[in-house]
Amino acid sequence: MYDLIIIGGGPGGISAGVYASRKQLKTLFVTSEWGGQSIVSPDIQNWIGTPHISGNDLAKNLEGHLKEYAGKFVTIEAGKKVTNVSKINGGFKTTLDDGTTHESKTVLVATGSVRRKLPAKGAEEFDNKGLTYCATCDGPMFSGQDVVVIGGGNAGFETAAQLLAYTKSVTLLHRSAEFRADPVTVKKVLSNEHMTSLTEVEVLEIVGDNFVTGVKYKDKDGNEQTLDATGVFVEIGLVPSTDYVADLVELDDYKRIIIDPWTQQTNIPGIWAAGDCTNIKYHQNNISAGNAVTALEDIYVHLKTR
Ligand SMILES: Cc1cc2nc3c(=O)[nH]c(=O)nc-3n(C[C@H](O)[C@H](O)[C@H](O)COP(=O)(O)OP(=O)(O)OC[C@H]3O[C@@H](n4cnc5c(N)ncnc54)[C@H](O)[C@@H]3O)c2cc1C
Repeated sequence: MYDLIIIGGGPGGISAGVYASRKQLKTLFVTSEWGGQSIVSPDIQNWIGTPHISGNDLAKNLEGHLKEYAGKFVTIEAGKKVTNVSKINGGFKTTLDDGTTHESKTVLVATGSVRRKLPAKGAEEFDNKGLTYCATCDGPMFSGQDVVVIGGGNAGFETAAQLLAYTKSVTLLHRSAEFRADPVTVKKVLSNEHMTSLTEVEVLEIVGDNFVTGVKYKDKDGNEQTLDATGVFVEIGLVPSTDYVADLVELDDYKRIIIDPWTQQTNIPGIWAAGDCTNIKYHQNNISAGNAVTALEDIYVHLKTR
């Protein structure tokens, strides 16, 4: 029986894997892919200690770091997906998509999430060509430009607030009549003279040539309009990768795993979770890495004192 099974090869899971090997925990590390969500990013500028790195290179560095320390303690199963985790006597049984099962005393879930993609014509074509799903990552590249934010929840308004610091103008498009974001945030953001919002809008198409030049939408009266913009920031939610533990641990309404932020423990003793698959407020590589290290420290204490 393993001491620990870590699921997920993004910055969270890999950070935990490095710590597990250095603490000599008998660990199985399973991931479907290396590197996590930001692998598609051409230039990550906020991975601390590295001013510029592509998502691909970050993924390679993370994989290399884990493999360098894995030694005889961490067994790696890459290119495999976990399909189920269940409770057994003395621990847990994890099933992979190749049909194999593995037993462990503890489990760390770090399978992150995927951004909900904009279901509009041109969204895929202009992804990373003016359309982006991460303002913190890409926003500064749009300094002095007219940009659009799609989504009227807290993430949409927080994105708009960030962009107002350096863009020429921000127009927020929301499909309903009422915003979902906190009223205080809405009021503050909308009071900025460079901010405009349009409600009851259906986004039809992202238009452009080599890069985005605008957004075509249907307004509340049913008329088609085109808004000129060189950047489009999509914030219409995250889809957590938690289906395979949905019957085991407590999830919130958005299918995120509910954790105790002091320890990263879930409601099931022996299972921890970290990063974008949990109900934390902010989503960044550095945050996932830090959360997973907290989890690993707590798992270590649990294993050595039980
Ligand atoms: C386009 C884009 C650009 C971004 N740019 C930045 C940036 O510049 N800076 C920044 O700090 N943040 C950025 N982010 C956010 C950042 O990528 C996430 O916050 C971070 O990746 C979360 O890490 P994680 O380890 O929690 O999960 P993830 O990165 O989502 O990793 C989860 C891992 O689990 C694996 N997995 C999923 N399901 C299973 C399963 N069932 N079995 C086995 N493995 C599984 C996946 O293959 C993946 O490797 C960006 C996000 C996006 C979408």
